[in-house]
Amino acid sequence: MPEFDEGAVKKEVTGLLSQLIRIDTSNPPGNETAAAEFLRDLLVAEGLQTEIVESAPGRGSLLARVPGKGKRKSLLLMSHLDVVPASAEGWKHPPFAGIVEDGFVWGRGAWDCKGMVAPEVVALLLLLREGFQPQGDLVLALWADEEKGGNMGAGWVVKNRPELVQADFVVNEGGGHALPVDGRNHYTIQVAEKGVFWTRLITRGTPGHASMPHRDNALLKMSTCLSRLGTLKTPIQQSEIVGQYLSKRLASIGQMPAGKLQVDDRFLEELEKTHPRVAAEVNTLVRMSIAPTMIQAGTKENIIPERCQAVVDCRLLPGQTAEDLRRTFADALGSLEEVEIEPIQADEGSISPLDTELYEAIMQTMSELDPGCGFVPYMVSGGTDSRFFRQKGVPAYGFFPLKPDIPLSEQLSIVHGRNERISQENLLLATKFFYELVKKMLG
Ligand SMILES: [Zn+2]
Repeated sequence: MPEFDEGAVKKEVTGLLSQLIRIDTSNPPGNETAAAEFLRDLLVAEGLQTEIVESAPGRGSLLARVPGKGKRKSLLLMSHLDVVPASAEGWKHPPFAGIVEDGFVWGRGAWDCKGMVAPEVVALLLLLREGFQPQGDLVLALWADEEKGGNMGAGWVVKNRPELVQADFVVNEGGGHALPVDGRNHYTIQVAEKGVFWTRLITRGTPGHASMPHRDNALLKMSTCLSRLGTLKTPIQQSEIVGQYLSKRLASIGQMPAGKLQVDDRFLEELEKTHPRVAAEVNTLVRMSIAPTMIQAGTKENIIPERCQAVVDCRLLPGQTAEDLRRTFADALGSLEEVEIEPIQADEGSISPLDTELYEAIMQTMSELDPGCGFVPYMVSGGTDSRFFRQKGVPAYGFFPLKPDIPLSEQLSIVHGRNERISQENLLLATKFFYELVKKMLG
């Protein structure tokens, strides 16, 4: 168990998070360099060499490496400095004030992801202060631009300065929240992410006066396309990993069916009646999803439009490819083959193996901090920076441990929503976890 003064550490990690929240890194525009410089000064004061890498002015990511003795594999701890924007409306405390009240730190980024940055940094500071000499390299990377896809942060550095982030294992955000089942916490370990394919559809028609309607109307054609795609039931493919997660997720709300869990559309329809949010979550974990999100057509009230464009957000399961998506569109749109389909962004899903030294170390470390706890592998329907590392074959896990002191239903709404906050107890827990994990992996 940690050899440090828990009261002092709790105070330090709380103070650090409050200060980070006050540095507004809303993305867009980001301005992550301000937060990176603030943290650099802290780390440099403890004798650590750091580098701020800017992909563009103001878009800085902070990198640091504690060189190891080359006797063990290297470990990269990462998180991100940017946050999604917030307006003060509907918040109990202003989102960029970093208020501490009743054991919670409030503000944008308190959970996603400055609440992970602060424990990682404090754990590193504690290790530096006690003169810890790692057996393998310990790397810290705090990224710009995660909330807009990461291409100006992790993606940029992995492509342009790969030597800075060379590591054998990665720990990132994306998992670690606990599902309470039968009085035990079951921590999620994020091992997979769905692919994100944003796609533009274009239909064309013949312009004409709207007082004499004809059928060659680009808007009408698009409306048919979107209603076919938006109501499409793609095939269900429930992977082993997702099956394990769902058994705990459904047990946590008392909805675990008797016998082996095999999700089908009937099961989803029943679940939707009582737990619509959970049904939506389960649905996206077992199939490719397609959601129309934007549409544009027409220039004047009385002109039949000759062109209509729409955007659909498609989430593919790990292993599904652009070709699978193309076939899905072709099957759904069939007779409407004149629809033009253009990719806007195409990122395939990613997955890390479960049988690694780091996966084992995460479970062991956490079991020491929360005796009797369990674990479930976890897939998310969005992308995190982990994908840049998994694409290079580096195992990456999302694990930022949080005990369930905010109801799960509210957890889902505070991330990117109002009243984002984190408990000081969870900040301390996460700091202990990163500190102990480093000792286990690199000691
Ligand atoms: Zn995040």
